[in-house]
Amino acid sequence: MEQTNLFDQEPPREVKERAEVLRSEINKHNYYYYILDAPIISDAEYDKLLRELQDIEARYPSLITPDSPTQRVGAAPQTAFQTHEHRQPMLSLANAFSEDELRGFDARVKRMLGIDNGENLEYVAELKIDGLAVSLTYENGIFIVGATRGDGYRGENITANLRTIGSIPLNINPIPGEEGTASIYPVPRFAEIRGEVFLLHEEFQRINEERTERGEPTFANPRNAAAGSVRQLDPKVTARRKLDIFCYGIGYVENGGWKTHYEILSALMSWRFKVNPNIRLCNGIDEVWDFCQEWHDKRETLGYDIDGVVVKVNSIDYQERLGYVARSPRWAIAFKYPARQATTVVRDIIVQVGRTGALTPVAYMDPVEVGGVKVMRATLHNEDEIRRKGIKIGDTVVIQRAGDVIPEVVEVVTEKRDGDEIEFEMPKFCPVCGGDVEKPEGEAVARCINIACPAQLRENIRHFASREAMNIEGMGPSLVDRLIDANLIRDPGDIYYLKQEDLEGIERMGEKSAANIIAAIERSKNTTLARFIYALGIRHVGERTAQVLAKHFGSLERIQQASVEELAQVPDVGPVVAQSIARFFAEEHVKNVLKKLREAGVRTEPVTVQKERTEFSGKTFVFTGGLETMTRDEAEELVVKLGGKASSSVSKSTDYVVAGEKAGSKLEKARNLGVTVISEQEFLDMVGQK
Ligand code: NAD
Repeated sequence: MEQTNLFDQEPPREVKERAEVLRSEINKHNYYYYILDAPIISDAEYDKLLRELQDIEARYPSLITPDSPTQRVGAAPQTAFQTHEHRQPMLSLANAFSEDELRGFDARVKRMLGIDNGENLEYVAELKIDGLAVSLTYENGIFIVGATRGDGYRGENITANLRTIGSIPLNINPIPGEEGTASIYPVPRFAEIRGEVFLLHEEFQRINEERTERGEPTFANPRNAAAGSVRQLDPKVTARRKLDIFCYGIGYVENGGWKTHYEILSALMSWRFKVNPNIRLCNGIDEVWDFCQEWHDKRETLGYDIDGVVVKVNSIDYQERLGYVARSPRWAIAFKYPARQATTVVRDIIVQVGRTGALTPVAYMDPVEVGGVKVMRATLHNEDEIRRKGIKIGDTVVIQRAGDVIPEVVEVVTEKRDGDEIEFEMPKFCPVCGGDVEKPEGEAVARCINIACPAQLRENIRHFASREAMNIEGMGPSLVDRLIDANLIRDPGDIYYLKQEDLEGIERMGEKSAANIIAAIERSKNTTLARFIYALGIRHVGERTAQVLAKHFGSLERIQQASVEELAQVPDVGPVVAQSIARFFAEEHVKNVLKKLREAGVRTEPVTVQKERTEFSGKTFVFTGGLETMTRDEAEELVVKLGGKASSSVSKSTDYVVAGEKAGSKLEKARNLGVTVISEQEFLDMVGQK
């Protein structure tokens, strides 16, 4: 990036002001990022601000102040920890955001070293782990201090926390050379090992799930979670999180003497430090560029985050000749991958209805680029998720895209609220058909229960016609699709009003096939009650429950009229399923479709209701005294469910008295009347036999 140096010129006032704004903004974000581990803007946005300030300062060097964020790294250590001074500063890296910038780096390095631009320079390309930099100090091979980078000169002493990371050796024990000879890399008397602490994606998810359960705010990304975990005041908390480390360099060292960076990595490996295996010694920048592209495509397979590739001049002699600028070495550069997080504004939240009737709120946002893809929508999953993340219409949000996964909102930038944001309300009726929406207790997803809802039509009709349901031969998924596309079917009832001509008008349908279909439809009009109930596609009602309902009630009318309580007493039907059935039959659209089906001549064979005979059938139970395993109400309910009766007083017609703890007068009466008295355990055994 060649800039005109306007060193002698006084910068215009607006440029000066802009530089000041940028400085204070960047410092603010440094604080959120490095101290609170909770950034409020995306890294890409931050990088843009830093770039803008760097550009201004390059054009007007008189604007550079010693405390400018372009001259410093990170943020000063937090007072909660002891400070640790690095013997050799821990710097940042200059960035390259494009192939051109990467090649520009190569050209610059060669120019400074006086090497012909046509020659190939040797580089080491390494993955840029997106975690948190730490320095591990070893004296005579013993781990004595671990610290964060801090402002590059002084970091926070987090030794106790770093000791909990299994992959950090507490003492250096070199891998012996061949045939047990000493390692070719003797343990230095003093060394600062540099590495990146990070979290695997699965561990990051686990931590966030745990935090959600406890009602604590979730971490925005694995990097913040790693930083937050390592900077815990209680090492026990750090220990519970499975942090890991990749080491990639050495700071201050006594008797180092390496010739290349590659050799340093080999030494680290021989001392049993964990070094990332995906490292390439590259002959020239073309090979570096190949490595960058390769890992751009493969990064999703790693299981941890990388945000680019670090490119380092391999020769230590060259590194020393190149030296440092304010906050980074001249001999290395970070090639950054396009950000997969971005900040944008939610303009609306629109509820979509899926094939199974699930209502999914979707955020419609100002278009923004995330990892090279333009994004305008993100799923918000369900109402609970919106409440948990506190998303309102008008909010500025951080969104992210992981691999090919649909973008999602990570968090709300509450600092950007101006009070005009609107709370989202989940619709009470289906936005597609106006049908009733059901959200059973304990479930996160709300659903439209209208059997004729256009959003679910394909799925519903396919199910309705399927072999286990109405068994309409020949009416498979593809015919269903064609009938819907031709607008011949808008609900299951329409099937029975199809005419031969309608079918003949459909693509790829001959006269004979049409006649066969009409005959199959006709045949399906006589079916069993169980099949018919199953065909309706009531949520939670599968084949088995449909059979149980048919047996218990005997007719559709009786099921339709049954109360939730009555439904819940049917074996196999719990309160959730009972609710679902009752609400389904109460839905206006459903009533219309059932009427239509009846009028078309759909009939179900009568079922002889035979109650399953059990030990409980017709028997009267009285409970007395305290029960250990359930309340008395629950026990009575159980008896009724199993076909018996529960009574509160003992008489001659009582079959069993279940005597619990401290049973009193009822027990006495039972004994006098000669009624069978059983213990709670005996009662439970009877239930178990059912
Ligand atoms: P950097 O992350 O761009 O690069 C330097 C760091 O890379 C090193 O300190 C080291 O920790 C790491 N690294 C990973 N793998 C490495 C390897 N193989 N070899 C050498 N180093 C390796 O620079 P930075 O100064 O640490 O921080 C800037 C980053 O933090 C940027 O990505 C920036 O966007 C982000 N940031 C974001 C905000 C925000 O508000 N969102 C605020 C501050 C900083």
